[in-house]
Amino acid sequence: MEFKDLISFIKKEDERLRNRYGNYPDEEKRILARTVKLAEEFGELCDEVLAYNSMQRKDKLDNIVEGNLAEEFADVIITSLLLANAMNVDIEKALEKKMEKIDKRYEK
Ligand SMILES: [Mg+2]
Repeated sequence: MEFKDLISFIKKEDERLRNRYGNYPDEEKRILARTVKLAEEFGELCDEVLAYNSMQRKDKLDNIVEGNLAEEFADVIITSLLLANAMNVDIEKALEKKMEKIDKRYEK
């Protein structure tokens, strides 16, 4: 998969979500809903990280499903990209800029 495929998927998913939940009176509500959704997905990732480190209750550890950790990482990335898209952030440009900034930290 290339980055452009991911961005293309995000645009398609944004369209599908707008068709499904298009009843928001304004864009502000959509942005807030996506922010809350990102917090929810991050919480699910945290839950999987705890399980990965066997730091959950036994009954939760008994219900671990293989592949959930990777799926939650994907959920966080996709939800984050949907939020960025709703806020008209050019995420490719933002990532390039951030990676350049991080690289520069090690040049000194
Ligand atoms: Mg999830």
